[in-house]
Amino acid sequence: MFDRASVVTPGGVNSPVRAFQAVGGTPRFMVSGTGPYLTDADGREYVDLVCSWGPMILGHSHPEVIAAVQEAVSRGTSFGTPGEGEVALAEEIVARIDPVEQVRLVSSGTEATMSAIRLARGFTGRAKVVKFAGCYHGHVDALLAAAGSGVATFGLPDTPGVTGATAGDTIVLPYNDLDAVRAAFAAHPGEIACVITEASPGNMGVVPPADGFNAGLKELCAANGALYISDEVMTGFRTSKAGWYGVDGVRPDLMTFGKVMGGGFPAAAFGGRGDVMAHLAPAGPVYQAGTLSGNPVATAAGLAQLRLLDDAAYAKIDAVSAELRSLVGDALTKEGVPHTVSAASNMFSVFFTDEPVRDYDDAKKQDVFRFTAFFHAMLERGVYLPPSAFESWFVSTAHDERAVERIAAALPAAARAAAEATA
Ligand code: PLP
Repeated sequence: MFDRASVVTPGGVNSPVRAFQAVGGTPRFMVSGTGPYLTDADGREYVDLVCSWGPMILGHSHPEVIAAVQEAVSRGTSFGTPGEGEVALAEEIVARIDPVEQVRLVSSGTEATMSAIRLARGFTGRAKVVKFAGCYHGHVDALLAAAGSGVATFGLPDTPGVTGATAGDTIVLPYNDLDAVRAAFAAHPGEIACVITEASPGNMGVVPPADGFNAGLKELCAANGALYISDEVMTGFRTSKAGWYGVDGVRPDLMTFGKVMGGGFPAAAFGGRGDVMAHLAPAGPVYQAGTLSGNPVATAAGLAQLRLLDDAAYAKIDAVSAELRSLVGDALTKEGVPHTVSAASNMFSVFFTDEPVRDYDDAKKQDVFRFTAFFHAMLERGVYLPPSAFESWFVSTAHDERAVERIAAALPAAARAAAEATA
């Protein structure tokens, strides 16, 4: 299948990290999923710790989500008119997340962050955007600049195809460094439209904000007339009922959502302060639109999933995550592998280093070759981890004792493989 795919699709995949390039080997083609398990085209079953990169928080093929989808599909798949499902989903988001007074639905996290930034620029009349190295906000041209290289530090594009003009207004700063943000505001008075940050980053591995970092960002934005945008595409409706906002309580001006809120379908959103959202067309002058925005099948799936995510569901996910973190940590300790298990609520990842990881530069110092060995040993034993050392691991309410036991059984050999790996 990968050979077939590679003929008709660049690199054989429709999203780069799926290709296994960071770990080597051939990506598995999955044909079905049930609860915490995925089955590949060769009939092998895996415990899934990727959960479609976050969305499948109830596990695969949850009967109530599937029923909601089937019911919606039976009435038609897209109308291009307003519909009740999108209103109900927006109401659910507004009810859960206090800073969100109004919300606009889109089809991907990329669209959500792209639109939020356009709105921030339109609202403030300013051009510059601050982002942090190692934070990923989708493949928005202006947000692909990521530090680590001197080129990116100067706001130049990291990828061919993004012009200097598009990325020139992006200021990339080190994560967890409020002094750098203070200095950027001082260097560009009246020019910065917004600061965008992952509410708690999961795209350089899991690197939670230091105490007071998000609150400090909010304060600096408010003092300088800029908007504070919290990207909760990954953390939203996952790290708590109200996402990371439910954990740290810092009120953003705008927020972005995706993944969990779509129930495995393309649904995402941005929202926030009513006076800012009022600038969006057709209420205001900032244009934003989408043929499939608020799609009735996607909104039915998302709504069904959110309605099942009550306090008990989060307690269950948190408990499974804690159990797995301790199992992984114990296995690696036993084999003497340098590591740090890093968590933000129930999101977690393993850095193969003993040193503290506070930003992207720290994350890059880990022994990636040990992760590669660990990944393949787990895969061979039927555990599907994200195929990169710089991604969060995800669990679901469906990860029961049997699934945890299967992971526990695979860990000793994987930890040994990590210990024996050489650069
Ligand atoms: N923002 C964050 C924090 C993400 O993790 C992602 C995707 O992983 C995105 C934005 C982009 O979302 P999408 O892949 O739906 O475009």
